[in-house]
Amino acid sequence: MSAPNHLVFKPGPFFRTSRAEPRVREARPRQRHEAPRECEQCHRESDELTHRRVSVVTRDDGASSVGYEYKWLCPDCIPRRKEEKIEPKTEAELRSILRSARKGLR
Ligand SMILES: [Zn+2]
Repeated sequence: MSAPNHLVFKPGPFFRTSRAEPRVREARPRQRHEAPRECEQCHRESDELTHRRVSVVTRDDGASSVGYEYKWLCPDCIPRRKEEKIEPKTEAELRSILRSARKGLR
């Protein structure tokens, strides 16, 4: 069984073969971010450095600006804000949260 005529691809006069060929990307070696050996905050050597976004406050002439920098930090220097936020909740609190969530679904 052969395909119906209108489904067969026929290269017309304006068909360029270069278009049809899949583009070959140049094999470019990716720039690997090498992990440094020491923490950028306490300058201690550590094997478990993690790349973290850290807010950096810079001050010049009274005006302070907050920027973000990526730094390699050892486990001791990683900010622990998220862990502190988690607090055990009482049953009544959980129930009220569930109730409000159910109301929001309606
Ligand atoms: Zn450190």
